Amino acid sequence: METRAVRDGDFWILNGEKAWITNGTIAKLAIVWARTDDGVRGFLVETDNPGFSATNVKNKLSLRASVTSNLSFNDCRIPAGNLLAGTEGLKSALSCLNEARFGIAWGAVGAAMSCFETVLDYTKQRVQFDKPIAAFQLTQEKLADMITEITKAQLLCVRLAHLKEEGRATPAQISLAKRNNVKMALDIARQARGMLGAVGITGDLPVFRHMMNLESVFTYEGTHEIHTLTLGRDLTGIAAFS
Ligand SMILES: Cc1cc2nc3c(=O)[nH]c(=O)nc-3n(C[C@H](O)[C@H](O)[C@H](O)COP(=O)(O)OP(=O)(O)OC[C@H]3O[C@@H](n4cnc5c(N)ncnc54)[C@H](O)[C@@H]3O)c2cc1C
Repeated sequence: METRAVRDGDFWILNGEKAWITNGTIAKLAIVWARTDDGVRGFLVETDNPGFSATNVKNKLSLRASVTSNLSFNDCRIPAGNLLAGTEGLKSALSCLNEARFGIAWGAVGAAMSCFETVLDYTKQRVQFDKPIAAFQLTQEKLADMITEITKAQLLCVRLAHLKEEGRATPAQISLAKRNNVKMALDIARQARGMLGAVGITGDLPVFRHMMNLESVFTYEGTHEIHTLTLGRDLTGIAAFS
């Protein structure tokens, strides 16, 4: 995190950049985490502030329904009251991420179910060699593997929700669910895409769209690799990040 905020009387002055921020050019308000002399703090920045500017990433092939933006803060002067009360250190920023990543773990299951249901319908209807392709053993094995992985991911989410309700879900458990479920959904989307044959590469069915969108989900809310390292640290007590 390189964006810095410096206190100046009744104001904070922000300088720095944030890359790959969803809805950055259309938001009225940005929540910005920045380094201060007292550690990381959260700030509300109104985007009509003259020190704020944003441009959109062009040519995205994934999550095309939302804009993704690069934000710049150039001597962006905001009232001292825009400091988020009670935020202290990276812990506050990370607590938001735990909420988002819990939701991602569920959302990935939904994408996987959509791919599974699409391919199940399709293979029951599509006839080759005088039989629906669902009648071939190779197809049935793929369908059986898919529903098994989806069911395991659903149970993981339900268990995590119970732990969360009891205030016992740990960041490592949330990493485990995000990492597993997004990879599971991406594998199922790719498998389903193949099972649809040529029609699978079109937008007529939802599978290719899910596959492309899941590529972003694999990267955002903590990359697959960083969640792997989080689990590694939790298991061994040794951080392998650097
Ligand atoms: C569509 C989209 C929307 C987004 N929206 C937001 C948003 O609203 N807010 C926000 O804050 N961010 C957002 N992001 C950013 C996202 O969180 C980052 O892209 C992500 O954290 C990865 O950072 P990076 O792209 O700089 O990759 P890098 O950090 O450059 O990583 C590149 C690759 O190297 C791997 N890598 C990096 N370090 C290590 C290491 N120590 N060990 C092993 N492997 C490593 C990564 O896992 C990855 O595979 C969005 C991204 C996308 C694609």
